[in-house]
Amino acid sequence: MEITIDQNSGFCFGVVHAIEAVEKSLHNQGQLYCLGDIVHNSEEVSRLKKMGMKVIDKETMKTLYNQNILIRAHGEPPSTYQLAKENNLSIIDATCTVVLKLQKSVRKGFLEMKQKNGQVILFGKKGHAEVIGLTGQTENTAIVISELEEIDVVDFSKPSRLYAQTTQSLSTFKSLVELIKQKYIEQGYEDADFIWYDTVCRQVSNREYSLKQFAYEHDVIIFVSGEKSSNGLVLFQICQSVNKHSHMISSANDLQKEWFINCRKTGVCGATSTPMWLMNNIAEKIKIITLH
Ligand code: SF4
Repeated sequence: MEITIDQNSGFCFGVVHAIEAVEKSLHNQGQLYCLGDIVHNSEEVSRLKKMGMKVIDKETMKTLYNQNILIRAHGEPPSTYQLAKENNLSIIDATCTVVLKLQKSVRKGFLEMKQKNGQVILFGKKGHAEVIGLTGQTENTAIVISELEEIDVVDFSKPSRLYAQTTQSLSTFKSLVELIKQKYIEQGYEDADFIWYDTVCRQVSNREYSLKQFAYEHDVIIFVSGEKSSNGLVLFQICQSVNKHSHMISSANDLQKEWFINCRKTGVCGATSTPMWLMNNIAEKIKIITLH
């Protein structure tokens, strides 16, 4: 059986930068607190933990003083920076530049909407760290929509500014834009003050086409991703849409021998938070289990 690893899969530049910041800090200080998982990939997190990284949550952060804390690529709301200030914590800020730009844009939209009695809408996953960071820019007033079906929470008598979490599907975001425009018209607000911003990160959306092609060309797809990864879920659904023999796993232990019965070509791919070393290990494990 032929096994190919998708060369377009693996860490995006935002994650690479955050991991480099962790490694550099651990090299210099030997210990570092990271607020939340640095990537949604438990294998990579445990590699960094072995080097001295400690993952903490916001509650634990409140109890720390005079320490170094890393903010990961997803970014944080203003309240986190405030807490760091109060507890004299030094922040190593690895917020991805794309997320940082989006946070600024959402803040600007929020201030404008405040003046116009309007609303900020975020297309994203409720409770996701990036979305929490973004709603924080709006004093937690933004409306978060995760599915097109949730559109009725929008007040169509008011102006709106719409943004997308960076890892959302571009095509679903565009459908949402069309749906909102249509709803404004249906409710009699043809001239509504509605502006949308395409803030989907191209590190993810550009992968959609090549991944689709990759999934189509193989008999079986092994998609490697942490369960908590938003872009992992989006990209896995793309594989599934063209190849029903697609399986999502987080480590080599999840592999099942029966998936490879009558399979000639297996493709191994992953999310923007999947390390290349892990995909290599999994390809090796597939070779072993299919030999016997
Ligand atoms: S997916 Fe895009 S926005 Fe998110 S961390 Fe990677 S580069 Fe940054």
